[in-house]
Amino acid sequence: MNYHQYYPVDVVNGPGTRCTLFVSGCIHQCRGCYNKSTWSLTSGKPFTQEIEDTIIADLNDTRIKRQGLSLSGGDPLHPQNLSAILKLVKRVKAQCPDKDIWVWTGYSFDSLTPQQQEVVDYINVLVDGKFVQELYDPALLWRGSRNQTIYKLK
Ligand code: SF4
Repeated sequence: MNYHQYYPVDVVNGPGTRCTLFVSGCIHQCRGCYNKSTWSLTSGKPFTQEIEDTIIADLNDTRIKRQGLSLSGGDPLHPQNLSAILKLVKRVKAQCPDKDIWVWTGYSFDSLTPQQQEVVDYINVLVDGKFVQELYDPALLWRGSRNQTIYKLK
């Protein structure tokens, strides 16, 4: 998996103070996408063991308390991202058990494959669906268009 950005302290992508990772790779090609540069799986840089270790350390950093981890992109549930994302979310649940995990995906919740669902089993909140420009509403919290749904899973 490649990623574009990692923000160790972020207050705009989900509730509270968070760590946020924007991964590479998205097939959805939504008109009006705010993050087209992330569409290619080969864009960005490799998501290394070192970055994964940094995320875990940041989530457990007691000097700046984080509520959790946000995974966005790109699409964390792109089939080619699933093994790296599954490894990450399993590790967060094991080593940072009091932190929540939010995931933004362009896939709709009811169309997830068993492999995507395996990741979702470890997360707290899924924000699903493509961005639809006609349904854009700037008043929405944590989502861009009205077709998208915030699923609180845990
Ligand atoms: S799912 Fe998100 S990243 Fe992918 S094209 Fe749509 S808005 Fe852009």
